[in-house]
Amino acid sequence: MTARIDRTSGYYNQTLETLSPEDRATYQNAELQKIVQYAYKNAPAIRKKLDSTNTKPDDIKCVKDLERLPITHKHELAQLQQQDPPFGGFLGVPWNRLKRICMSPGPIYEPEEIHSQNDRWTQAFFSAGFRKGDIGQITFSYHLVPPAFWFEDALHRLGCIATPGGVGNTELQVRMMHDLKVTGYVGTPSFLVNISKKAREVGYDLQKDLYLEVGFVAGEMLPDSLRNELEASFGMIVRQGYGTADVGCLAFECYHKNGMHFPYNCIVEIVDPETGRQLGPGETGEVVATIFDQVYPMIRFGTGDLSYFTDEPCPCGRTANRLVKILGRLDQVTKVKGMFIHPDNADEVAARFPEISRYQVVVTREAHVDQMTFAIELKEGVEATEALAKRIESAIPNSMRVRGKVTFIERGTLPEDYKKIDDRRRWN
Ligand SMILES: [Zn+2]
Repeated sequence: MTARIDRTSGYYNQTLETLSPEDRATYQNAELQKIVQYAYKNAPAIRKKLDSTNTKPDDIKCVKDLERLPITHKHELAQLQQQDPPFGGFLGVPWNRLKRICMSPGPIYEPEEIHSQNDRWTQAFFSAGFRKGDIGQITFSYHLVPPAFWFEDALHRLGCIATPGGVGNTELQVRMMHDLKVTGYVGTPSFLVNISKKAREVGYDLQKDLYLEVGFVAGEMLPDSLRNELEASFGMIVRQGYGTADVGCLAFECYHKNGMHFPYNCIVEIVDPETGRQLGPGETGEVVATIFDQVYPMIRFGTGDLSYFTDEPCPCGRTANRLVKILGRLDQVTKVKGMFIHPDNADEVAARFPEISRYQVVVTREAHVDQMTFAIELKEGVEATEALAKRIESAIPNSMRVRGKVTFIERGTLPEDYKKIDDRRRWN
């Protein structure tokens, strides 16, 4: 094999990616003040947002001050856009500065500027291992929605060539990758699996007839097992990023794949959804974003995703904090004893016990204390023993971070359309 270029170290913007925490705070607070002042003057929706809490632009001097402002969620954005089409008062620049307008489900219209300074996805691509001279195949949709265009832009900023594969056409895409010696993959993890299957089907050796060295994936969960399998079969690095169509890139992995660093030019808060207060490292809350883009200045946009962050140092040298893991959607979670529980965490518990057929997590409240119970239907022939209940109970806190009880119920007790988490608490 020929010597490969170094994809495992370095920075897209060394100065800004390695700022000390104090310098980062100074930089971000200055950018925050600028965008709030700008947006207040130029984007009526942001003016209303500040006015609604009697906040003057001068009152927002640092990240902590954002707590004064309400959070705008996706469904509210869709409503605002319907009331005041097409951008709901969020457009911060004249129309002649736009180059593209996309439409995401909602529907929500997303404007994009001709000379955008937004290089957050570019940081993500460099961090994943893309380098000047790569040919990157983009397998996200080029219809209506923005990600494929963003990723193409990121490749161009790095000095890479893009091949617009789009969605589907797997065999043609495999052919294109082979003929053009494509070195980079951009898409979902599952489509890369499809590529590997199709390539083998047409008789290609994944490492000799394809030339993939690096992949940037998004849009789906990336379990370690799948990543390992893809990296081994193609002989490539696969790293993921996280963002939304409304605010763009919010976090990305580096070579060390120990969480996703925040880009330097946006503010990501983890917020208690009930109070809007900012949370610290290790505390689970909603991912809330503020971006510095004049064209569509989202200030405190609530993604609806739950996560937590770490401020532990990373061997890559990037000093930005990292999202550890996306835990799921806010609208699917339930708070038990102050901790958020999510159906995916409950599934994790159940997956460890082949004895379990179906289960439901029931949340109740007795004497002002939350109780969590796994009501479990066992597989045919499995005996409901005290020992089994104890084993499951001891596994619950690992995944759910709260203790729970186990009760066994008759097979067929749960209805067809049962909810995985049934919150039976009554608050009045
Ligand atoms: Zn790192």
